[in-house]
Amino acid sequence: MKITSVTGIALRVPCAPIADALSTSTARQALLVRIDTDAGLFGIGEAFSFGAPLAAMKAILEAQLAPSLIGEDPQDIERIWQTLYWRTIANGRRSLTMACISGVDIALWDLMGKACRMPVCRLLGAYSDRVPSYASGGFYAPGKDLDGLRREIEGYLSRGYRDAKIKIGRTMDRPGAPLSYMANRDWAVTPEEDFRRVAAAKELLGDGLLIVDTNASWDSYIALSRGRELARLGVEWLEEPIPFEDLEGYTRISRELPQLRIIGCETQQGADNFATMIRSDALDIAQPDAGWVGGISETLKIGAVAKAAGRKISLHCFGSSVLFAASLQVAAAMSNTERIESEENPNPLKTDLVRTPFETDEHMSFLVPQGEGLGIELDWDKVSDFTVEV
Ligand SMILES: [Mg+2]
Repeated sequence: MKITSVTGIALRVPCAPIADALSTSTARQALLVRIDTDAGLFGIGEAFSFGAPLAAMKAILEAQLAPSLIGEDPQDIERIWQTLYWRTIANGRRSLTMACISGVDIALWDLMGKACRMPVCRLLGAYSDRVPSYASGGFYAPGKDLDGLRREIEGYLSRGYRDAKIKIGRTMDRPGAPLSYMANRDWAVTPEEDFRRVAAAKELLGDGLLIVDTNASWDSYIALSRGRELARLGVEWLEEPIPFEDLEGYTRISRELPQLRIIGCETQQGADNFATMIRSDALDIAQPDAGWVGGISETLKIGAVAKAAGRKISLHCFGSSVLFAASLQVAAAMSNTERIESEENPNPLKTDLVRTPFETDEHMSFLVPQGEGLGIELDWDKVSDFTVEV
């Protein structure tokens, strides 16, 4: 089997505005990667693209990576990964190049599954047929007050979720607050209002797990002072409190806030970078995004590094149904998987692209799709509806 073409499919759909500590979204987007072969089989993957120019990603994929893929045997996944990494090392390594390599890697695993007529999870040596999840939401939005947050979480609980994540940290309370650099600084709150949001969420969740996410908007001093109050309010996981570049800060936070599990970093890439963070006691739970970190192949390595260090893994996932399916397949193959992020903001790219919706059990564990490859069948009419020229 030989690869005959590599195509980037840019998807975008407007959405009601939502914001985390820093970024505001008014549209959802995805870069799908389609790899066709001379055997008539194709694979589909997704490069995580939050806020990125899709035109740049499509150019990296089609102009920079594709020439190294045409004519190759798509089943040589590790060799192809290393080839793409080394051929782009002068300007790649991280960011959009690694995201595109991730999308290629996922598409190659999808192809492998289709060639072997097995779901990717079984190819990888399945550990479970389902993956526990938490509802991921709790964003800031125009007009959304404490009652709005409560209604959102009540909705999750009514569907069977026990655990949830909310955003915190959208504050302008200090000079140089990262939010001050953002184009949209609306819907900011005070730290006290954030604590009230956290308390309201915990009151509803009861014994359920409450995760809070600052999207790296704090520094280690703020994390240490506010983290104690978060723990007192019943928060259990603190997600990406500071930028990953501050490795010593992460280590301090992890050691000095033993009440909290420090989880991250969706923005970090590469198994070697995660290995450094884990060796430095920076993270209690590794949280890579398969569409950003280097694909299914790199996610598996991070899972193994975490396992060897006695740590759990909980995949970040904020994309289309392609990335969610890939994340489920690899998460279910790792015995140290804790939970997977189940993003619940309205997103047609996650809910409308697949012919069969993702299934859960009554506790909102997601059943791993058992079809070939990623296990999903895309509705190509819907893909066309959401495709944009870039
Ligand atoms: Mg996050």
